[in-house]
Amino acid sequence: MEYKRLVEIYEKLESTPKRLQKTAIIAEFLGKVSAEEAPRVVLLLEGKVFPDWNESKLGVASKIVVKALGSATGIPHDKVENEWRKMGDLGSVAESLIAKKKQSTLAFAELKVAKVFDNIQKLASLAGEGTVERKISLITELLSSASPKEARYIIRTVLEEMRVGVGAGAMRDAIIWSNFGKEIGLEENEVTSREEYNKISDIVQNAYDMTNDFGEVAKIAKSKGISGLKNVGLSVGRPLKVMLAIKVKDIGEGFERCGRPCMFEYKYDGFRIQCHKDGKKITLYTRRLENVTSQFPDVVECIKKHVRGDSYILDSEAVGIGKNGYLPFQSISQRIKRKYGIEEMSKKFPVELNVFDIISHNGQNYLNEPFSKRRNILEKIISPLKGRIVVSRGLITDSEKEAERFYKASLSDGNEGLMIKKLDAPYQPGARVGFMVKLKPTMETLDLAIIGAEWGEGKRSSWLSSFTLACRDDEGNYLEVGKVGTGIKEKEEEGVSFAQLTRLLKPIILSQKGREVTVKPKVVVEITYEEIQKSPTYKSGYALRFPRVVRLREERSTEDVSTLDMVEKLYREQKG
Ligand code: AMP
Repeated sequence: MEYKRLVEIYEKLESTPKRLQKTAIIAEFLGKVSAEEAPRVVLLLEGKVFPDWNESKLGVASKIVVKALGSATGIPHDKVENEWRKMGDLGSVAESLIAKKKQSTLAFAELKVAKVFDNIQKLASLAGEGTVERKISLITELLSSASPKEARYIIRTVLEEMRVGVGAGAMRDAIIWSNFGKEIGLEENEVTSREEYNKISDIVQNAYDMTNDFGEVAKIAKSKGISGLKNVGLSVGRPLKVMLAIKVKDIGEGFERCGRPCMFEYKYDGFRIQCHKDGKKITLYTRRLENVTSQFPDVVECIKKHVRGDSYILDSEAVGIGKNGYLPFQSISQRIKRKYGIEEMSKKFPVELNVFDIISHNGQNYLNEPFSKRRNILEKIISPLKGRIVVSRGLITDSEKEAERFYKASLSDGNEGLMIKKLDAPYQPGARVGFMVKLKPTMETLDLAIIGAEWGEGKRSSWLSSFTLACRDDEGNYLEVGKVGTGIKEKEEEGVSFAQLTRLLKPIILSQKGREVTVKPKVVVEITYEEIQKSPTYKSGYALRFPRVVRLREERSTEDVSTLDMVEKLYREQKG
C-alpha cells in the first residue's frame, strides 16, 4: 500500500475532534486493508511502529530530525533550526522545507507503507558507534522520496508525536465496525443491537488485553473472525495488561464492593512486576509492560529457586527492603531504568517480591478461576523466604473491626494501605472493574504528564523549572491543569530535582519560544494539591491550587496519566 493513502487518513482524522467520526474514518479505511497489511497500518495510525509491550525505543531526538532535514533538502543546518524556532513543530518544518525542495527537483518516488514502517523500526535496532549517523540516514532516505505532506507525518511518527487523536477506544470500535458491522446490525453508525455489540466488544477488548497490540487484533479479526479472536489466549512470555484497582473511601465501602467476607492484603509501596517463566526462561515486566528482566537478576534467581513449576505467570509487587523493614518506592525506583552496575545495585537496594496473584501455571490458565483458588495455588507453589520472596500478607474476614486492625498494622509496617479483593472474582486484565479495590489514608493524588517548562534564571539558568502539568482525555489529548515548581529539590540526593527533570525533559523538547519550551508528554509526576478549582485559563477547565511534586512516576506510562474524568470526579467529591 502507498503511504500517501495513510496520509489522507491522518488528515481526515485531524480534521475532526469527534471520536465517532474518527472511528468511522478508521473503520472505513480498515475495511480496505488486507489482513497482512493490517498490523503495520494499525500501529502507524496509532502513531507507533511497536506495540506497547515491546521495549524497543526509537530514540530519535529533535536534533537528529533537524540534521536529517538538512541532508534531505540540502538546506543549511542553521536555516532548518531557524524554521523550527519560527514554526515550533518539526512536522510542519519538514512539510514546508520538502515543499520548497520539491519545487526545484520534482523527484517523486512512491513511498510504500512497508518502507516507512521498516525504516522507522530499524531506528530502534541501532546501537554502538555511528548510531546517530545511521539514524539520520534512515530518516533522510524516507524524506528524500516523500511528498511534503508525507514528510510531515513521517517526522511526527519518528518523534512519536502523531497527535491525530486515535485513542484505544476509537481503535477498538473501528476494528469492530469494520469487521463485524453486519453481525451487530450497524447501519449508518447506528448500533441496532446493543447487547450483541457489547458481546463482540468484550471479545475484541479481551484479545487486546492479551496481546496489547491492536495491529495483531485487527489481523486476527480479518483473517479468523470472532472465533479467532476468542481463541487469543495467554502466551507465557508475552505480557498481558495487569488488573487495576479503583479507590474506596473506607473499609465499609470495601466490603460493599468486594462482598463479605473478602480478602484484605497489605498494599506495598513498591512497583508491580509480572513474572513469566517458560521452561528455563524467566521474563519480568513492569506495570507498563516494559521488559526489566536484566535489571533484576536477583529477582530472577529468587523465582527460580522458590517457585515450583515449569511455566507460570505471576503478578507481584517488588518492595525495597532495608535493615528496619520496607523502604518507600523512591529508594528503589532507580533500579528500574538502570543499565549498568546492576549486580552492585541489587546488593545496595534489595527488593522483596510480594506475590499476590497467579494467572497460569504449568499450562493451566487460571484467568477465569476465582481469586480464592488462585491464592491457594500461590501458597502451594511458593516456598517463602522473608526479605526475598513471600506471598503477600493477607487476611480473609467479614469483620470491620478485624479489617481495621489489619489496616493499622499495614500502615505501621510502612505500607501504603490495603488492597481489598473479591474472593470469587476472575483475573480481569486491564479493566478497573472493582474485583480489587484500594484503600489509602492519604488524599488522592494525581499522576500528571509534564508538557512544558521554562528555563530558569540566574543560577538556575541551566535548569528547567516551572513545569506545566496535564491530565488526558479519552482521545489521548493532554489538557493543562496547572504549573508546578514546588516539591522539586535543588540537590539531587534530596528527591526529585531540577537537574533530574531537566535531564529527562531536554531530549524530548518539541519547541522553544524565549525561555518557554514544550515537551513530549512522556514524564509523569505524582502531584498533591490543596484544592481543585474551576479555571477558564487552562484547557482542562480546572486548575490545581498549590500543587506539589511528590515523586517521579518512572514506572508509569502516559496511559496511566490521570484522566479529565478523574479530575472532575475529585472536584465534585471535594465539594461533597
Ligand atoms: P495504585 O498504584 O494506587 O493504583 O494501586 C494499585 C497498585 O498497588 C497495584 O498496581 C500494585 O502495583 C500495588 N500493590 C501493592 N500491594 C498490592 C497487593 N497486595 N495486591 C495488588 N496490588 C498491590
